[in-house]
Amino acid sequence: MSDFLFSDTNKHYHTQSYYLKKRFGRKVVKVSLNGNFTCPNRDGIKGYGGCKFCSGSGSGDFGGDPSVPIEEQFSEVRKKLIKKWGEPLYIPYFQANTNTYGSIEKIRTLFEKALVLPNAVGLAVSTRPDCISDEAADYLEELSKRTYLVVELGLQTIHDKTAEALNRCHSYADFLRGYEKLNCRGINVCVHIINSLPGESREMMLETAKAAASLRPHAVKLHMLHIIRGTALAEKYEKEPFPLLSPEEYAALICDQIELMPPETIIERVTGDGAKADLIAPRWTLDKKRVMNSIDLEFARRGTFQGDRFSP
Ligand code: SF4
Repeated sequence: MSDFLFSDTNKHYHTQSYYLKKRFGRKVVKVSLNGNFTCPNRDGIKGYGGCKFCSGSGSGDFGGDPSVPIEEQFSEVRKKLIKKWGEPLYIPYFQANTNTYGSIEKIRTLFEKALVLPNAVGLAVSTRPDCISDEAADYLEELSKRTYLVVELGLQTIHDKTAEALNRCHSYADFLRGYEKLNCRGINVCVHIINSLPGESREMMLETAKAAASLRPHAVKLHMLHIIRGTALAEKYEKEPFPLLSPEEYAALICDQIELMPPETIIERVTGDGAKADLIAPRWTLDKKRVMNSIDLEFARRGTFQGDRFSP
C-alpha cells in the first residue's frame, strides 16, 4: 500500500504507467511515429536553424522513418513490442518536429489513420505552442472527445532570455497563449521542461517548474539537457564548456520540481533518452535506470511526495 494517492508501488510521484494502467486496465505503450512534418523554426516561418539543442531529426531520434507510411512504421515496432509484452495497447505518438505544422487535411488524414491502428487507444502529438491554428485546435478538441489525446507542448523554460539565446523563437507569453488555446477546449496538455540550460541557475529551473505547476497540466516531462553532436549547442559547448548538473544535483532538483507539481499531474518523464552515439554530455544520463533509482532514493530519504509543496 502506498502513502501516495496516485501510486500503488513505492513511487513518490504520479507515473505515466500508473495512470495508463488505471485508465485502460492493462499495459499501454507509446509508439513513436514520424508523420513527415517539418518545423517552422527551421524554414524561416518562425526562425532559421532550429533550437540550438535540437538534433536534425527534430527531437525525435527514436521516431520512425518519415519516408515509410505510418502503418508500416507501426507494424515494425509492434512486432518487437509483442515479443516483449504479449499484445499491449498502443498510443501512436507523433514526436519529431512540429506535428501541427501543415495543412488541416494532412493533420486530419494522418491522425485518423493513427487512431485506427490495431489496439490504438489514444494519440499523442508533440508541437510548438505558437503553431496551433484555430482550425487545428478545433479539430484536436473534436478528437479529444472521442479518444485519449495528449498534446505535448515545448516550454523548456519560462525565462525569455534563455529561450532567446537558444533560438527557440517563441516567448513564454506565446507558450501561455498556446496552452490556453488547448486548455480552454478541454484538451490534455503535457508540458516539456529542460533543466540545466546554459545560463540558468537552480532557482530559475524551479521557477519554470512552479509556473508549469500553476497551470495544473495533465502531464509534464522533465528533462536534463542533452548536448547532441552536430547541434549548435554542441559547437558552443565544445568551444566553451558551460556547467551541467551532476547526477546528484539533478536528482535533488527533480525531487524539488515534483514536490512543486499538483499531485494529479502525470510525471511522464524524469529523464530523457539521448541517442547514445551522438550524446556528447552529460554521459551519466545514459544510465537511465540509475538516474531513476537516484530520484526514488532521494524521495525515500526525504520522505516527501509529489504535491507536498504545491501551492494552487
Ligand atoms: S521547435 Fe522543436 S522541432 Fe523545431 S527546432 Fe525546436 S525543438 Fe526542434
